[in-house]
Amino acid sequence: SETAPPPSERPHLPDMPEKIQHYIGGELVDSADGATFDVLDPVTNEVYIQAAAGKQADVDRAVAAARTAFREGPWPAMLPRERSTVLHRIAEIVTSRDRQLAEMESFDSGLPITQALGQARRAAENFRFFADLVVAQADDTFKVPGRQINYVNRKPIGVAGLITPWNTPFMLESWKLGPALATGNTVVLKPAEFTPLSASLWAGIFEEAGLPEGVFNLVNGLGEEAGDALVKHPDVPLISFTGESATGQLIFANAAPHLKGLSMELGGKSPAVVFADADLDEAINATIFGVFSLNGERCTAGSRILVQREVYDTFVERYAAQARRVRVGYPHEESTEVGALVHPEHVEKVMSYIELGKSEGRLVAGGGRPEGFESGNFVAPTVFADVPPRARIFQEEIFGPVVAITPFETEEEALELANDTKYGLAAYIWTNDLKRAHNFSQGVEAGMVWLNSNNVRDLRTPFGGVKASGLGQEGGYRSIDFYTDQQAVHITL
Ligand code: NAD
Repeated sequence: SETAPPPSERPHLPDMPEKIQHYIGGELVDSADGATFDVLDPVTNEVYIQAAAGKQADVDRAVAAARTAFREGPWPAMLPRERSTVLHRIAEIVTSRDRQLAEMESFDSGLPITQALGQARRAAENFRFFADLVVAQADDTFKVPGRQINYVNRKPIGVAGLITPWNTPFMLESWKLGPALATGNTVVLKPAEFTPLSASLWAGIFEEAGLPEGVFNLVNGLGEEAGDALVKHPDVPLISFTGESATGQLIFANAAPHLKGLSMELGGKSPAVVFADADLDEAINATIFGVFSLNGERCTAGSRILVQREVYDTFVERYAAQARRVRVGYPHEESTEVGALVHPEHVEKVMSYIELGKSEGRLVAGGGRPEGFESGNFVAPTVFADVPPRARIFQEEIFGPVVAITPFETEEEALELANDTKYGLAAYIWTNDLKRAHNFSQGVEAGMVWLNSNNVRDLRTPFGGVKASGLGQEGGYRSIDFYTDQQAVHITL
């Protein structure tokens, strides 16, 4: 049986709420039927708080509030500059509370505190970015000389349903909230049930920033209940979803009768391809970070490393040695590089892949619980070498600190291996051959490619995947397009 670590190993969180409620029409409320669900602390796996378990009735209330705010409220009709001012205030408040936010996020999700802090700052930046973008928005006008003028009248769509996962919850929520609100929509957010804590801070932040009542609504609850009701609600014309590919397929089907607008950011099994001519030091550092940061619970994790034969043995040896030095620790400690995975169910899944990997590949680092962590959701950074492409640990998303390394001989073989999964989110390529770098990038089936680069983001660029990794792209004006209708107006001259 598991024993909780002594209290000194847990952070003191003075601002912890007593319970987690919904936020509907400007009020914090319980579920209509009073139902709640347990939220676990990933270090002790003890229930630390109860969250309201939303169902159809709660979603109905939230959608009604959002609809009223859209139809009657000032928000959709406000000047972009006015909405932008509110969004900038939100960014300022998030920035001023980034420590508190990161501490709560780290406590709830098990993410290392330093990385949770980075994510809180990204959340502020997401608001700042869309606040700026929406005032710079220019729409098309076309003229047929002597005959007609045509212009685009861009409008917010209505109530946007936002459904988000448990990895980097607050940041991913901001990535949807920013553009949805900037463009004048009203929203109902359904955050992931494993990690509802940081989302409970939005209401206070938005109130303080002056967001009108009813524009932001939050319903907590299980995916099959609250999430499902939101997807099937006839008054919600848009669903922006981030989560597993299988959930995305289900949502796609459930939204079909209403022909909803869908944005789907789904799973990945992204390759990192290391050619013999690459700078090995940089490639090793980046591919270590690429799969072990954020506890490996990262959609764009480089979880398959393909290495050219000439440098394969050296790479594997050095990589395994470095993986063994990655510091597993309590999430709130500054020195921690891999914290606690989000939930015991998820640990079970990751551990089952590790057991499978022992027969599918050659274990060269990790392989189970790290030493000194007898309880909680800790998993040692785990590396398998010589993994054949038909192995399940090569094909399936594990979403934890586990990586599969596979050798290749030629560029053609590398491309074939890189494209040999159902996913197509990201790809990382390491080579000093300029021509090959570009040709390979263009051939690889991935929505995003990083060339001799870590996973860096520029919020103007498209973000999204191909194949089973997603549908549609967000980022920059693409997000504005998703959250608006573009009406064509024609005038005869
Ligand atoms: P998940 O699909 O289990 O859940 C995501 C959200 O959907 C949760 O809020 C959940 O409650 C809700 N949900 C579940 N079933 C639903 C249903 N039937 N109807 C409506 N909503 C439902 O995913 P997860 O385990 O929370 O997150 C991990 C996954 O997310 C991984 O596959 C990861 O790659 C992916 N992800 C993708 C990106 C990206 O940008 N592409 C980013 C982060 C995470």
